Amino acid sequence: MSGKTIFQRIIDKEIPAKIAYEDELCLAFHDVKPQAPVHVLVIPKKPIISIGNLAVEDQALVGHLLLVVKRVADQLGLSGGYRVVANCGPDGGQSVDHLHFHILGGRQMGWPPG
Ligand code: 5GP
Repeated sequence: MSGKTIFQRIIDKEIPAKIAYEDELCLAFHDVKPQAPVHVLVIPKKPIISIGNLAVEDQALVGHLLLVVKRVADQLGLSGGYRVVANCGPDGGQSVDHLHFHILGGRQMGWPPG
């Protein structure tokens, strides 16, 4: 049994995912259990666990990830807006220990989140 997270296995192309965007630093793919008509995850290829594990040296990478969020949202036609979520740690509801930004769109979002 490999110690890799499920997202590392997607990066390594060991398991399939519906990819929306990829470059040398990151990958964006559709969530297997969508919570909205559009639900895409943007992840770095660098194995960072969560926002709580970011280092100063990751500053440019995080900026890149957010620009990819915008690029993917534009590509998928989310002109009416969308929500970007990064669950962090157990209390934040994070279930996969590899940093990811959820892009949720295609319906009206509620507030506060659960
Ligand atoms: P978290 O709960 O950590 O913020 O989000 C993890 C997300 O990864 C969940 O929305 C879950 O549906 C998604 N996910 C978990 N396993 C897979 C998988 O194998 N493929 C894809 N595409 N998404 C996954």
